[in-house]
Amino acid sequence: MAKTYAIAIVGIGKITEDQHLPCIAKNPRFKLTGLVSQRGVARDGVPSFKTLGELLNSSTTVDAVAICTPPNARHAIAVEAMDAGKDVLLEKPTTATTLETADLVAHAAKTKRVAYATWHSQHNAAVDEAKRLLQGQRLKRLHVEWKEDVKRWHPGQEWIWAPGGFGVFDPTINALSILTKILPGPLFVTSAELITPSNRETPIAGKVSFRSPAAASGAALTAEVDWRQTGPQSWNIDIETESGQKLALREGGSKLSVDGKETVAAPMEEYERIYEHFAELLDKGESDMHYAPLQLVADAFFVGKRVATDAFHW
Ligand code: NAP
Repeated sequence: MAKTYAIAIVGIGKITEDQHLPCIAKNPRFKLTGLVSQRGVARDGVPSFKTLGELLNSSTTVDAVAICTPPNARHAIAVEAMDAGKDVLLEKPTTATTLETADLVAHAAKTKRVAYATWHSQHNAAVDEAKRLLQGQRLKRLHVEWKEDVKRWHPGQEWIWAPGGFGVFDPTINALSILTKILPGPLFVTSAELITPSNRETPIAGKVSFRSPAAASGAALTAEVDWRQTGPQSWNIDIETESGQKLALREGGSKLSVDGKETVAAPMEEYERIYEHFAELLDKGESDMHYAPLQLVADAFFVGKRVATDAFHW
């Protein structure tokens, strides 16, 4: 019989409430045995601790730890967990800097632990199908439009506006995680505009241009992202290949149209798939720490031109 893994969650914020707790509850491969919450958030029957150290020093059984804090806290927590013999699942974006994630790759190998960098938007049937269709193709055009309402998805979260909080690149990294999965070659940032409110440290909107060895000469590869979009939200990726095929990923990668005809439309079960994949990794003792999406964001910040815009208030 397949093993059930005892799992604890660190950081009981929005995404833990929305996705991790319900998806763990319905996956028989996992049993929630502990919570770590600075604010002391508790759930019926599950012990809650203020720090991971307190949990590790308790009698609570834990095989794996899901780390759902803001990114800048994750490296230290993941190292602490792996040093204590626990496997780790990391919310996206893995960490606040690229070298921290590289270090976690090395640390997982050194401690013989499983580390899993989750990129939830990659877990869609439409994304898998787009990858299949793009194999061996050359790109003629790529455009990402990722526009959503920060007040709806990150209500009151101040960490997203602090250095290391990513700003609008927190959701943009989801689009980039799709691209790094489906494109038939690597993607490089050539230029970026980081449109930043006068009273904040991270961008509220941006533009990014890319190049790729898998693109035809003169191909336009671009992204336009914005956190000020009220009403319907836009999570769109449009790709045209040199052979003339037009792929349109919609609704965050859950729907795919090819040449104007919808070919895949599946309900969003990204976090269900994440926990299924984590169980497979744990069974095999393998890590999955692909982090090109984080490197692309870092490169956009590296080459990006800062452009000031109006102050942002909640
Ligand atoms: P959040 O609501 O602010 O929750 C993060 C939680 O982490 C806080 O509530 C707090 O919980 C804990 N925490 C905060 N600072 C900490 C620190 N310095 N050290 C340890 N723990 C700390 O944020 P969120 O929206 O859940 O986002 C968390 C991560 O999930 C982000 O990286 C985000 O990109 C990703 N994500 C978010 C969404 C979304 O829709 N919001 C969707 C997908 C992925 P306690 O008080 O319980 O410790």
